[in-house]
Amino acid sequence: MDMFVMEGPEPVLTRADLIADPSLASYEKAGGYAGLRRALSGLSPADVIEEVKASGLRGRGGSGFPTALKWEKVAGHRVPVRYVVANGSEGEPGSHKDHFLISRSPHQILEGMILAAYAVGASQGHLFVKESFPEGIRILQKARQEAHSAGLLGENILGSSFSLDIEIFVGPAAYIAGEETALLEALEGRPPRPRPKPPFYPTEMGLFKKPTVVNNVETYAHVARILSDGPARFRERGTPKSPGTMIFSVSGSVVRPVLVELPLGFPLRRLLEEYAGGPLPGETFQCFFTGGPSFGILPAKDIDTPLEYDALRAKGTGLGSAGIIVLGSGDCPVATSRDFALFYEKGSCGQCPPCRLGTESLHGLLESIESGEGSPETIERIRKVAEMIKGRGNCGLITASAYMVQSLLQHFPALVEGHLEKDSRRSAGERVPSWHYDHFVG
Ligand code: SF4
Repeated sequence: MDMFVMEGPEPVLTRADLIADPSLASYEKAGGYAGLRRALSGLSPADVIEEVKASGLRGRGGSGFPTALKWEKVAGHRVPVRYVVANGSEGEPGSHKDHFLISRSPHQILEGMILAAYAVGASQGHLFVKESFPEGIRILQKARQEAHSAGLLGENILGSSFSLDIEIFVGPAAYIAGEETALLEALEGRPPRPRPKPPFYPTEMGLFKKPTVVNNVETYAHVARILSDGPARFRERGTPKSPGTMIFSVSGSVVRPVLVELPLGFPLRRLLEEYAGGPLPGETFQCFFTGGPSFGILPAKDIDTPLEYDALRAKGTGLGSAGIIVLGSGDCPVATSRDFALFYEKGSCGQCPPCRLGTESLHGLLESIESGEGSPETIERIRKVAEMIKGRGNCGLITASAYMVQSLLQHFPALVEGHLEKDSRRSAGERVPSWHYDHFVG
């Protein structure tokens, strides 16, 4: 199935001239590597961190953590070896932006990584991409080769005293491999299992126990533009607390599933109506998962919420990696949540018993409700299991699975109870929105 790519009002990462062709020549023609040239010819590593700090850039991988703070921590360690890692292991249902960027603008990611390495004093970087994304692997390997041939990677980059190599690491396709410490485990040659935190925060004990910057690929792409255009220009878009743009993926029950870069704070209603074509014919919007399933449900009455971290958090949901899944009036939130519960069950790495057992249990309980076999006790059991498992694992998956079902019970109590009656379930139907897309069009 296709996902349309549309140009927003002021695109920074997805300008047509930047994404038409992923080659180095095309990227440089569009002003690419200007930020790196500027940094290496006149800025100290501390200056680069200051520019990123002044921009207010927050990580685009889900947490919204200030990027410069992370870099400062890594740069502040008095050790000879530090690493930079790019997380290109996109896996949250509904999120497609990272694979798009990898396939259309790989040099922008590499440039951001080189700048990060210069800023924190790293001489080795790793870009993690899933084995299930062969097109992305090929494009990244070619981009790396081009960068080496042009003196943008390797020894004495652009004639400076700074040297860096970046490995394109082909990692496992498992969802959990996108968790930053699981990704580090995979880079070290082990199965991708999240590490307990504390003490293993990557900025302190990351790759091979060395201080490590782990950022999402979109975050690095923004860094390249911040260094070429300046932090003030970056701040002209977005809101004071959530500056800049972000690439939104809209899937599910809309006329046109779309990928579009917009300023943070853009109203959800305008995104859905102006870019995604509105609800399916004859339907209305029922609710939204604005940050994929992990942040729970935003009901349709909140359609005017600005798409930025704090406004969405105030509504009890979140931005995550901006993968917005839309449920229309013809979709069943119970069946959709059952599918998400299965996703978490399959995605769990299984090392924490509460997660292994809890995700399996939540899926089974939702399955029985959805199939009309449930009872009021089943609903009560869901509440108990969700409450019991929250926060009891090494990573956020366990809490995300609990929060997703709690959000369903909070926003659709009557609908869930209605499913206890087999006949009413049949009349409600069990359509679920589609969030899988294979091709970018446009
Ligand atoms: Fe693995 Fe779940 Fe534990 Fe996360 S919470 S580390 S997914 S078992």
